[in-house]
Order: sequence, then structure tokens, then C-alpha cells
Amino acid sequence: MKVNKLNVLSNVKVSDRYWHMKLDASSITELIKPGQFFNIKCGENDLPFLRRPFSIYRINKEEKTIEFLYLVKGQGTIELTDVVADETVDIFGPLGVGFELNPEWDTILLLARGVGIATLAALAQEAAEKNIKCVAILSARSNNDLLAAETLQGFGAQVYKVTEEDGTSDAEDVQQLVEQLLTENDIKAAFTCGSKRLSKLLQKVTKTNQIPSQIALEEHMGCAMGVCYACVCDIQEESGINSVRVCKEGPVFDLEKVVLS
Ligand SMILES: Cc1cc2nc3c(=O)[nH]c(=O)nc-3n(C[C@H](O)[C@H](O)[C@H](O)COP(=O)(O)OP(=O)(O)OC[C@H]3O[C@@H](n4cnc5c(N)ncnc54)[C@H](O)[C@@H]3O)c2cc1C
Repeated sequence: MKVNKLNVLSNVKVSDRYWHMKLDASSITELIKPGQFFNIKCGENDLPFLRRPFSIYRINKEEKTIEFLYLVKGQGTIELTDVVADETVDIFGPLGVGFELNPEWDTILLLARGVGIATLAALAQEAAEKNIKCVAILSARSNNDLLAAETLQGFGAQVYKVTEEDGTSDAEDVQQLVEQLLTENDIKAAFTCGSKRLSKLLQKVTKTNQIPSQIALEEHMGCAMGVCYACVCDIQEESGINSVRVCKEGPVFDLEKVVLS
């Protein structure tokens, strides 16, 4: 893991609120796993002072590029939209623990909301490479925010979209859909990111159905290197509750162990 100045190949607005950035990653020699993230310096000067964490969205091994999909929220992401092709961005990573994808799992379920869809897209890409079938429920405010759906479909995922706009994203409706997909498919493992409400739902359903599940947590981070302890979360171990750092021990954890408040 180290700081890299990577050449920007493109950085473009792809919907009302989302931007997509593609970087030349030929100088990164480490293996990058879905679920891992990079801490990106968003501004030219020291503002914002802290880097911002972004999950890897696509990894293109042959062309040696990586991609990020980001939602414009505050100062950091606004600054990031100013970056143009042929400039460089200062990125630190890959960081954290990624998803574990057991090749014996022939079908997996993904449940993602908002920017969590970007995180799970990289997993869908790895699943496609391993011939693992992906069934994905993608939740967002509006259809306009579901642009990564096409990326997942491109990886062969069977995609179900639920949105506030269509009145289909209530927890009860999503739970019904999850249960329906579990009866229609022989789901061996489930993965989630982007919503505590949906994660709680998946935690309950996967526990009942005894399906292993993983979550990528998105906590506010300070250093992202395990030093500042700004991003701790609680994990239920047999011995009791353990406070762990999302940036270092995570961001991916066994869903059944995470204490979701
Ligand atoms: C491991 C990890 C992976 C991530 N991957 C992606 C990604 O792929 N794409 C993407 O768009 N975003 C991702 N995020 C979230 C992204 O880091 C934040 O949206 C970004 O830091 C906001 O920075 P900002 O300066 O634009 O906004 P800020 O001014 O820092 O914040 C704007 C608003 O967003 C809230 N906020 C900031 N960070 C978070 C957070 N981590 N969780 C919840 N609320 C937050 C703040 O409280 C504030 O209300 C990820 C976060 C983590 C921890």
C-alpha cells in the first residue's frame, strides 16, 4: 500500500448526482480486491485536509486501469469533479480487507443501496470472472441513480431495481423480494453495502436461512490507516463485543457479527 500519483484518463458526470473517474493504474503492482478502497486527495491544496475514501468500482487487469463511481456530497467530492483528463490524482491504497468469494458458491445475492452499488459492482465483476451467478437487488432514490445497474448487467448479473421514485424500496417490499429470490435461486452467500436498514434486513434473513453473508461498511474515516480510531464499529464475537477499525479490520466484515445500531 502506498501513495500513487495516477494519471486521470477521464472524470465525467454520468447522472444528476454521480461522477465516474478512470485512472491509469499501471504503477500499482499490488492485487486489488473488490471491497477494498483508496483514500483520495480531493483538493489541490490542503483543503479539504483529509483524504476521502472510495471503493474500487471496476478493475481492468488487461488495460491496467481502475475506476471509481462517486456521489457528489460535500467539499471533497465537489473538488474531485474539477479534475480533468491528463491531470494526476494522489491516491493511497489499496486499503482494507476486501470481500471473500468462495469459488464453490455458484450463486450469490447482492443487496446494495446508493453508493454501495459501486462497491458491489467490483464484486459482480469478480463473480463473473469466476463463473459465479449474481442475483442483485439495487436500491436508490430514483432510477437516475441506478446507473451502475447496466455495469452489473454487463457482468451477467440478474438485476432487480427498487426505488423511492417507483415506491418499491420499502424495507417490507425488499424483504419480500429477497425471500422470493432465495426460493427461486440456490443462493450460497449474500453481500451488502450502502444501507444500515437493508443490512439489518439481510442480517435477519440470512441468519434464518443459514446463508453466510458479508457487509462492506462505510463509516466516516480520519486517517484510513488504523491510527486515529475515528471509524470503529462493534463486532459480536463469542467472547463479547469487540470494537474494531473499519479502515483496517474492514471495511468488509461477516454480516452476522456486525452490531448494526
Ligand atoms: C470504505 C468506504 C468506501 C466508500 N466508497 C464510496 C464510493 O465508492 N463512492 C462514493 O460516492 N462514496 C463512497 N464512500 C463515501 C465517501 O467517502 C463520502 O461520500 C465522501 O468522503 C464525502 O466527502 P465530501 O468531502 O464530498 O463530503 P463531506 O463534506 O465530508 O460530507 C458531506 C456529507 O456526507 C456525510 N458523509 C461523509 N462521509 C460519509 C460516510 N463515509 N458515510 C456516511 N456519510 C458520510 C457527512 O456527514 C456530510 O453530511 C465510501 C466511504 C467509505 C468509508
